[in-house]
Amino acid sequence: MEMDKGVIMKKHIRYCCRCVLPETKPDLSFDNEGVCSACHYYESRPTIDWEERQKEFLSLVEQYRSKDGSNYDCIVPVSGGKDSTYQVLTLLKYGLRPLCIIATTCQLSEIGRNNIENLKGLGVDCIEYSTNPRVRSTLNRIGLIEVGDISWPEHVAIFTVPVRVAVNFKIPLIVWGENSQHEYGGPASKAHDRVLDRRWLEEFGGLLGLRVSDLIGRDDLTVQDLQLLTYPSQEELDHVGVTGLFLGHYFPWDGYANALLAQANGFQTTPTAIEGSLVNYENLDNIQTGIHDYFKFLKYGFCRVSDIASTHIRRDRMRRDDAIQIVKARDGTFPWTYLGYPLKDVLDRIDMSLDEFVKICDRFTNKQIFQTDNRGNLIKDRLGNLKKINYDNVQLSEL
Ligand SMILES: [Zn+2]
Repeated sequence: MEMDKGVIMKKHIRYCCRCVLPETKPDLSFDNEGVCSACHYYESRPTIDWEERQKEFLSLVEQYRSKDGSNYDCIVPVSGGKDSTYQVLTLLKYGLRPLCIIATTCQLSEIGRNNIENLKGLGVDCIEYSTNPRVRSTLNRIGLIEVGDISWPEHVAIFTVPVRVAVNFKIPLIVWGENSQHEYGGPASKAHDRVLDRRWLEEFGGLLGLRVSDLIGRDDLTVQDLQLLTYPSQEELDHVGVTGLFLGHYFPWDGYANALLAQANGFQTTPTAIEGSLVNYENLDNIQTGIHDYFKFLKYGFCRVSDIASTHIRRDRMRRDDAIQIVKARDGTFPWTYLGYPLKDVLDRIDMSLDEFVKICDRFTNKQIFQTDNRGNLIKDRLGNLKKINYDNVQLSEL
């Protein structure tokens, strides 16, 4: 192992011994054998009676189906990505008539636009909600500076906009995709296996402690500016009887299988794996995603490559030692480009210079998990890339 030369006392990062997720991942827990909670959740899947779950799903949606056909049967929040394409295909297969709600991404890419149009072409009605782009840019900037998440407004909008539409259109059932707490590991309790509600949003929805109501008055933001990002009141929800369920609870979920099905139905991918990722079939719609993912790396020392590789390792599609090499080479590289778009395109839109951006990066970097020099400064290569203190578990005998 390389000795730590920094003044900061560092402890090695511990990784799951089956997948490549680190203990720094929020809400991930390890058992005594060093196996993470996401691997344990995956293992529990074969005991699920999926046929039974499918029946449960059908009887549940039957209760909500518009009896006289005068309204939609359910709302499906969609991004145009592979998972939402799969969601729409599944609902159509069971004869449901969904209203698809697109809460537009912060900075839509060309391929993202093509995939949205492709999704519409599957044969569904869609509402594309685009929130005021000036407000959005202000929120991107605040999110990046305050909580290190440029995509904060997008994460909020994905959850609040469909619920607003459900209330306004009086469509009680919202069919979400996978419970992200499962596939990537997290503490979602049994009670939150099936349903997405206000509590789920606040606990797991990625708000990072920054609440929408806190922003009123900041940079001239008004209540009206934030209307679409505000979760409806309990009274409004009760009036329509809004309920949300996760499709992943009723059907086995596999992002790769969803991508294959989506591609067979016209979904476009990129020619090569996306910057900072392992694959070419996800996170294709928002140019800001490169920055979003990079900050996850700075804070926790892992990024999309670790997440995706771990799901493939669990399914025996990738070897752990190969995954570690790819993580080392591709996870958390400085986001000079994303989907081929230069970083400057994103920074200009939020009125930020490269210098300011790098300073914010350094402020959010967890120096305990990255190499530093003897004055405690982060060590970067000529492209600005950081190096973690270790990429696999360190055995006691190696110390
Ligand atoms: Zn694991």
